[in-house]
Amino acid sequence: MFDKVLIANRGEIALRVLRACKELGIATVAAHSTADADAMHVRLADESVCIGPPPSIDSYLNIPALLAACEITGADAIHPGYGFLSENARFAEILEDHQITFVGPISEHIRTMGDKIAAKDTVKRLGIPVVPGSDGAVENEQDGLRIAAEMGYPVLIKAASGGGGRGMKVARSEEELPIAFHTARAEAKAAFDDDSVYIEKYLGKPRHIEIQVFGDGRGGAIHLGERDCSLQRRHQKILEEAHSPALNEEARSRIGGIVATAMQEMKYRGAGTIEFLYEDGECYFIEMNTRLQVEHPITEMITGVDLVIEQLRIASGAPLSLAQSDVSFSGHAIECRINAEHPYTFQPSPGRITYWHPPGGLGVRVDSGAYQGYSIPPYYDSLIGKLIVHGKSRNECLMRLRRCLSEFVIDGIETTIPLFAELLQHPDIANGLYDIHWMENYIAQRPADETEA
Ligand code: ADP
Repeated sequence: MFDKVLIANRGEIALRVLRACKELGIATVAAHSTADADAMHVRLADESVCIGPPPSIDSYLNIPALLAACEITGADAIHPGYGFLSENARFAEILEDHQITFVGPISEHIRTMGDKIAAKDTVKRLGIPVVPGSDGAVENEQDGLRIAAEMGYPVLIKAASGGGGRGMKVARSEEELPIAFHTARAEAKAAFDDDSVYIEKYLGKPRHIEIQVFGDGRGGAIHLGERDCSLQRRHQKILEEAHSPALNEEARSRIGGIVATAMQEMKYRGAGTIEFLYEDGECYFIEMNTRLQVEHPITEMITGVDLVIEQLRIASGAPLSLAQSDVSFSGHAIECRINAEHPYTFQPSPGRITYWHPPGGLGVRVDSGAYQGYSIPPYYDSLIGKLIVHGKSRNECLMRLRRCLSEFVIDGIETTIPLFAELLQHPDIANGLYDIHWMENYIAQRPADETEA
């Protein structure tokens, strides 16, 4: 096992990684920007190194500064968390060259999966079903029109380098296609400096279902079941649950089996997530994330496996700690993303937390680096914590979640807590009857009130 791990991230995930390291007896280094000097994980780490000013480009994305921090502290591995450099193949390659272990997959797998066209092509060859669409990039409007006509409208134009829902446009008819095509291209160029786009059939009422996998890099791989992340706004997840209310045991082990076999063939190493859209009993691959996910705790709650510890073990060369036959599921878990933003307009709301009272009790977990008196800096993502509850059944979980939301007090800033409290009263959520478009419709139809003025 490693002696010292440098955590190249911030917020709740930096704390999450730190906790796993401590439990394994690994010393920790918090690499942080000047804006995060007061962060909880910086306070708890054995050592900390300031790697630059607030903008991510100068700190959390600053590869030379991170290498220097490893050199100064003698860290033998870097855990990248999620976001920032976690899916940067060049970074993984540089670490490989410097004999510093990257807690993640090999750079080649990150690169392949980071290009959505190459990713789709690769998983298709490995037997994973994909969303029907163009074979590779679509070069011009004429080709786009031809492919869309063959496939039938509506279609979705997507950026090959896409992420966070950017560079994605729907065309519902032949008339809409040219504009959608050019807008997606321009957005992709601006966001990713890569204007290649491809076309997919636009699914009208799918659920977002993803499978958690782990590989040992030597041909061993297992799956840890699925998470349902269909509740999204602007293509961003806000509430996730495991299991999915839409999958039965047979479907779960069938899809899980296909995915685990593909990962074995790939000789995938570390944690990964295969994302699918699920409609009318069929699963269609959309992308693979070659890192830990924000919503990983719900899988931990129902499997009892600590995913970060598993990542660290595999990165250090140890075998998988369990075989597929050792994986068992217990109960149900739901996670709510607590964001520092207006609950209905989603406007960011950074600032000082004047009062902080998290809920507790059996089956309750709050992953957050926030505390009373902490000031949320305005430079980063608005996620400030995650409320995760576990229960014997989905119903018990919902009851517990409602209770927790009514206990959770965060003063001084706006948060998404009131939105969740409201959503949990809705029969569709109670019954698990929602797809990826449910949330947009809900917000659009919700009567505006004085809090939104
Ligand atoms: P990104 O990497 O930008 O997040 P994804 O491919 O993961 O892009 O898609 C993000 C979200 O966009 C999905 O969770 C889903 O809500 C929606 N989406 C993606 N592809 C389709 C599709 N073919 N049909 C309908 N919705 C889609």
